[in-house]
Amino acid sequence: MSRIRLGIMGGTFDPVHYGHLVAAEEALAQFRLDRVAFMPTGHPQAKRHPVVTPASDRYLMTVIATASNPDFEVSSLEVDRPGPTYTVDTLRELRRVHGEDAELFFITGADAVLEMLGWKDAGELGALASFIAATRPGYDLALLSSALDLIERPPHVDLMEVPALAISSTDIRERVAAGRPVRYLLPEPVAAYIAKNGLYGGGGA
Ligand code: ATP
Ligand code: MG
Repeated sequence: MSRIRLGIMGGTFDPVHYGHLVAAEEALAQFRLDRVAFMPTGHPQAKRHPVVTPASDRYLMTVIATASNPDFEVSSLEVDRPGPTYTVDTLRELRRVHGEDAELFFITGADAVLEMLGWKDAGELGALASFIAATRPGYDLALLSSALDLIERPPHVDLMEVPALAISSTDIRERVAAGRPVRYLLPEPVAAYIAKNGLYGGGGA
């Protein structure tokens, strides 16, 4: 039996958008993953915007966005866990569930890898999973490698170029609030969910 190769796409997903979906699909193909689990954070630690949408809405939007892809699934592991979300706890739990043989790949943006290295138990991350960092063409790789040099047991980080990096949830929230278009930045059914539930201070449907 070959070892399972599981991708984990962690994020606030407030809301999920095509940048996340493209990065996950690209990781699936480039790293021959068996599947990618989207993992909305329960109580994000490092979010700059003060009000994060309820986990139930972020979870449902992620389910809606990934429903048509048989290789994508959504995990409620972090959403269900009380207290602050730490990636190291999630990876420990996934290791426990999938066993020592599973290969875990944590998919993030290259900038998020930099943040992550300052996280709780960063040194242990590398023993639990390897990392796939999405970069924009032209990204300054020196930034990442000098940050990795600073930690004692750096995790293994592979880089992957994706084409849709300019899309962000922050921009989408601002667009909804201002009544500007979000079509083509995220799946239509997610935009419909946002409008129906009046998320992000938009006018609603
Ligand atoms: P926000 O603007 O609120 O920070 P975001 O768009 O960065 O939201 P997150 O939920 O914070 O989305 O990101 C989840 C993961 O997806 C992170 O690892 C982030 O680096 C990555 N990511 C975000 N946007 C893109 C994108 N356009 N292309 C590829 N990866 C992305
Ligand atoms: Mg972000």
